[in-house]
Amino acid sequence: MRIAVLADIHSNLRALEAVLASIGSVDAVWQLGDVVGYGPDPDAVVARLREAGAVGVRGNHDAAAVGDLEIEDFNADARVAMEWTRASLGLEAQAYLADLPEILVPGGFDFTLAHGSPRDPIWEYLFNTREARENLAAFHTTYCLVGHTHVPLVLRQKRHMERLSAGPESRLELDGRRAFLNPGSVGQPRDGDPTASYMLLDTAAGQAIWQRVSYDIVATQTAMRDAGLPPRLARRLSFGQ
Ligand code: ZN
Repeated sequence: MRIAVLADIHSNLRALEAVLASIGSVDAVWQLGDVVGYGPDPDAVVARLREAGAVGVRGNHDAAAVGDLEIEDFNADARVAMEWTRASLGLEAQAYLADLPEILVPGGFDFTLAHGSPRDPIWEYLFNTREARENLAAFHTTYCLVGHTHVPLVLRQKRHMERLSAGPESRLELDGRRAFLNPGSVGQPRDGDPTASYMLLDTAAGQAIWQRVSYDIVATQTAMRDAGLPPRLARRLSFGQ
């Protein structure tokens, strides 16, 4: 099976459309949370994910968007964007986000899906080997797919944990060693590369493959400005930060 793994789409419809177009035909779409927040098209992004038959989990922005999380913990720009998102979300998108679980293990697969980490799905950032090691006991499949940092990354169990960055066209053999795989962010990359990042799982070949795709960043920025979203959030898309 070929499975597309998308994370941190953040209401960026143009980035999502570019990713879905470049993926072509897949057997499943898994999303790792933060469907909304920051970007200008929350309803359209939710509708597009439903159309693609995506299954997945909720992130901190999704929880905040439906009132399950206070927004005092967000920084100033994120808070303004979240107030805008709450005000503009339609009922269907609200229902979709409210129904997303914090953890998902798709039936028949050896993958656990979480936004941040399996032990603290909404908030913890998995960046380094120490936190990764501490999280190994918090899930029961071989592999755990996470987002939240917006940085494509692998944290894999060797004798100690090892940390591998995952650039465009990176491939990882799924060799049975337990690992955390982060596909990077579709809608707001933060690894210095502004193109949309995602991952493909080829279960027959036993591989994970990272990909990047360009999208119309200026059009997203224009839509953000027209919506009155904070200019700094629009500018950062140009730099992948
Ligand atoms: Zn995010």
